[in-house]
Amino acid sequence: MNNEHLDRKLGMDRRITRRDFLNGVAVSMGALGYASMPALASHLRNTSHHDAGFSANDPPALIGMRGTAPGAFDVAHALRDGTFWEGAASPIDTQEVYDLVVVGGGISGLSAAYFFRKYAGKNSRILVLDNNDDFGGHARRNEFHVAGRLLLSNGGTQSIESPSAYSHVAKEVLEDLGVQTKTFYKAYDQNLYARLGTACFFDKETFGEDRLVAGMGSTPWPEFLKKSPMPRKVQAEISRLYDEKTDYLPGISKEEKLAQLAKISYAQFLTDVCKADPSVLPFFQSYTHDLFAVGIDAVSALACYRNPDDYGAYQYAGFDGLNLGEEEDKEEPYIFHFPDGNASIARLLVRSLIPEVVPGHTMEDVVTARADYGKLDQASSSMRIRLNSTAVRAQHSGPPESAKHVEVSYVQEGKLKRVTGKCCVLACYNSMVPYLCPELPEKQKEALHYCVKEPFIYTHVAIRNWMAFHKFGIRQILSPGSYHSFTMLDFPVSLGAYQFPAKPEEPMVLFMLRTPCKPGLPRREQYRMGRYELIGAPFSEFERNIRDQLNRMLASAGFDSARDIAAITVNRWAHGYAYEYDSLFDPHWRPDERPCVVGRKQFGRISIANSDAAASAYTNAAIDQAYRAIQEQLRGV
Ligand SMILES: Cc1cc2nc3c(=O)[nH]c(=O)nc-3n(C[C@H](O)[C@H](O)[C@H](O)COP(=O)(O)OP(=O)(O)OC[C@H]3O[C@@H](n4cnc5c(N)ncnc54)[C@H](O)[C@@H]3O)c2cc1C
Repeated sequence: MNNEHLDRKLGMDRRITRRDFLNGVAVSMGALGYASMPALASHLRNTSHHDAGFSANDPPALIGMRGTAPGAFDVAHALRDGTFWEGAASPIDTQEVYDLVVVGGGISGLSAAYFFRKYAGKNSRILVLDNNDDFGGHARRNEFHVAGRLLLSNGGTQSIESPSAYSHVAKEVLEDLGVQTKTFYKAYDQNLYARLGTACFFDKETFGEDRLVAGMGSTPWPEFLKKSPMPRKVQAEISRLYDEKTDYLPGISKEEKLAQLAKISYAQFLTDVCKADPSVLPFFQSYTHDLFAVGIDAVSALACYRNPDDYGAYQYAGFDGLNLGEEEDKEEPYIFHFPDGNASIARLLVRSLIPEVVPGHTMEDVVTARADYGKLDQASSSMRIRLNSTAVRAQHSGPPESAKHVEVSYVQEGKLKRVTGKCCVLACYNSMVPYLCPELPEKQKEALHYCVKEPFIYTHVAIRNWMAFHKFGIRQILSPGSYHSFTMLDFPVSLGAYQFPAKPEEPMVLFMLRTPCKPGLPRREQYRMGRYELIGAPFSEFERNIRDQLNRMLASAGFDSARDIAAITVNRWAHGYAYEYDSLFDPHWRPDERPCVVGRKQFGRISIANSDAAASAYTNAAIDQAYRAIQEQLRGV
């Protein structure tokens, strides 16, 4: 079959994802002002609305390439490459003066605005700048409209993880916003999928044959593995690792065992400690993708032991006989999930800052509230959020110790502009900060560059029904050798007027995870290489792989990508999770020597927030860092 024929079979020619094409483009043109023509052309190809009748200014309803959308990063990359200022005109002075200018409109930047208003007064003049066409940073909302029905999903930040462990400050923010975590015990249907299990998809490139095997983790291992295309010897080895409760580290204390697990990867643990044949590794390789964005070659065995899978898709083999006892902190259930993930928290923050943007009053009504993006940046308002605006400079108007202002320059619609702030919070990425403030001390810049954010692809595919999953009796699929290493039915949450599609014949959103890692390299190197891959790949490459993989996994239960896919959104997070330190690759610093601490040091009227500043990829970290940054500024220089 030639490529064209194959593409037609996959449905690559279906117009559904490109309908109402120009709407999608119009909404994001601002982001492209400074972009090159090739970037514009790729944006035109990659982004679209999937249904007619929506306001052009409705970013969550855009499909195609989202997350870090094409065009949103060109200015920042020119800054990084040292080409931005070549021949640049002086910034246009907008004459706007604010009490606070925030760079970055993610949870941290929005929280910084929230804290400033809380402690410095509601009439404080605040501007938030963000380079994207939507607010929330990773906490982004994806909307689909299929067969007249609204389907929501989290473009990035998924859930409020372990809310009882949130700091007092972060808990108070949630409370102020009206989020009551106990609501999720009712909203999240913990029974709906109870009878649906996990499958593993063995692909022919890795395992010699395409085969989907259901019953992973729920049928005895020998029985489950017997159905796989893996050789008998490999099946027996994997069964042994799960079933034989051996103490592979005999004769040493629990503390010594933990110390040893910290020094080896999970792959080494399996082969060197459990003495498994290396042929078992491809089966386990992607277990760590979701939490660490790399495979088992680059995650310590200790980190695997301490971080069981949130989705309940798999368990790490080999730890049961080590007699390590129960981990002290019992995990809370992974149910604190708004239908659009933590985008609802971002939307609640925006509601508290500019109520007319997100109408309503409760955590329930925010789910279906339609945001009015036209009201984010009104001259009459003391609180403004300016999208499609990439900051390029944050500079004191004199020596940092005595300057009264910070001048923040940014590019919007191709124009270089300037605003003035009495103080400034950089709630963007650590690695961006040295380019915004080149006069920072060298040691601080070096520390900021240490953080290499972890790249992820969160793909959402709207399908016309989920009968194929129902027929297989599954809700999720691990696919260790495939382009996306994990696929699952969306979280079963109904909240407010939003009803989750509980029947198999209803349309559904599938979540698919890809981590573009490069096994064998050091962890941060894998992230760098993965990011290049993400930025270089066109939407059509993702789309072809998605359609092909879904067909290969599900066709035997009647699924047909060409017929059953209604829309695709690829959320590309080239700068995803904050880098978290790991015992395999990072030195054991004293707490105050960690790069995140050295890097976030206050610099006159500029403070640094964002989850990178905590080296912790969680919503609560983003909130806590915003609080610290604002407290620094309120205390003064
Ligand atoms: C795919 C994914 C899933 C996640 N899931 C969870 C989860 O389930 N639970 C959880 O607690 N955490 C999760 N996280 C972690 C998440 O990063 C944090 O929860 C938090 O949202 C980070 O917020 P932030 O504001 O610090 O950073 P970001 O969300 O990254 O926001 C920073 C913003 O600054 C913008 N920016 C950068 N440079 C500039 C510039 N020069 N000018 C203007 N704007 C700029 C960025 O584009 C971005 O919009 C997830 C992260 C990812 C990537």
